[in-house]
Formats: sequence, C-alpha cells, structure tokens
Amino acid sequence: MPDFKLAILPVTQFEQNCSLLWEEDSKRAMVVDPGGDADEIFANIEKLGLKVELILLTHGHLDHVGGAMALKEMLGGAVPIHGPDIRDKFLMDGVAASAEGMGMTGMANCTPDLWLEEGDTVDLGMFHFDIYHCPGHSPGSLVYVDKNLRFAFVGDVLFCRSVGRSDFEYGDGTLLVRSIRRKLLPLGDDIGFICGHGPASSFGEERKQNPFLQFAP
Ligand SMILES: [Zn+2]
Repeated sequence: MPDFKLAILPVTQFEQNCSLLWEEDSKRAMVVDPGGDADEIFANIEKLGLKVELILLTHGHLDHVGGAMALKEMLGGAVPIHGPDIRDKFLMDGVAASAEGMGMTGMANCTPDLWLEEGDTVDLGMFHFDIYHCPGHSPGSLVYVDKNLRFAFVGDVLFCRSVGRSDFEYGDGTLLVRSIRRKLLPLGDDIGFICGHGPASSFGEERKQNPFLQFAP
C-alpha cells in the first residue's frame, strides 16, 4: 500500500484546522475545510508540489468554507468542491455577510459542485471515506471515515475532550451527542480523528475520557 501524508494548517482568526491529505508517491491530494487564508493554503500546496483533485467540506460554517471558492479559483477552477449535506446550504449562502459582521476579509459564500449525504463515499487514490451524517452542531455536518486507514475528519462534531457547540438557534446538543455515540464510537476505538479546532484524538480516547460522552442522552 502506498504511503500517505497529512498536513494541518490553522486558518482564520478561529484557528480552524484545514487539512492537506495526499499520496506520497503520486502527490494526488485533497484539501479538507479551506475556511480562509486561501493564499496561504495555496502557497503550501505549491511548496509541497501537490496535485489537488478535491476540496472536501465537513459543514457550512464560515471558518470551514470561507476560502473554498478562492482556493478553487487559484487551483485553476476545475477542482470540484464536495460536501457538506445540503441542510447546511443556508449557512454557506450567508458566509460573506457573517464574515463582514466579524471584520473578516477574503471570505466568500460557497456553492459546492456536489452535495453529499450519508451513504455516499469519497474516493481519491488510496483514500476511501464513508460518510456519516452527524447533525446537532449544524444540520448538515458530515463526518468522513477511512476505515482502512483508520482515521476520520470530524469537523466540529467532536473535539479532544469536548464536542461542537450547539447553542445556535439551529443547534441540538442532545442530537449531537446521540450522533457521536450511535454512529461514530461503534466504528472502533482505534480510529484517530482530525477535528476543526485543537489537537487530534481517537474515538477510543473520547469514549473513555470525554466528559460530554459519559451519559447516554
Ligand atoms: Zn462549526
């Protein structure tokens, strides 16, 4: 099996973890959640010599999608943007207005080339992600799990010792914890994950240590 590499670039004032994932030999790559600072993401892609074939989004919040359209342009306009679930469209249509309200520049509304949903898969080279719909932080949040390589991109669904905020008017904390406990934890303790903010962890670590997951809702 070929080797792969992962690089994480914190972007925007929210230090959102934008990920570059690529096959080491072929340099075929995907970018997950380019939430802003598209210039910086593009510079890293150039420096690493990556051939980006896909921009993948976990959910519609501005710090995850705000740089996606700019990055697509910089990459020549032909790289497709896939995800999240269409239930986050209302968030992605409001990125520019929300960003302006927070004094953030270079953030644009995002229209993906393809909406994804649970049951779809994401395939690129050696990577094969199954998709789980885990609402509660946002209605259209998707988690991407590569069961062969045993790692996942969880967006803002789950964090190291915490879970995504659910105090938005469209948020639902009970649904969020239920999504994590019923859909993600059963996939295996050994699955590591990259989350939207802060350090990586694993489903097993969080099953045992995360204070939000100790009581069944
Ligand atoms: Zn979010």
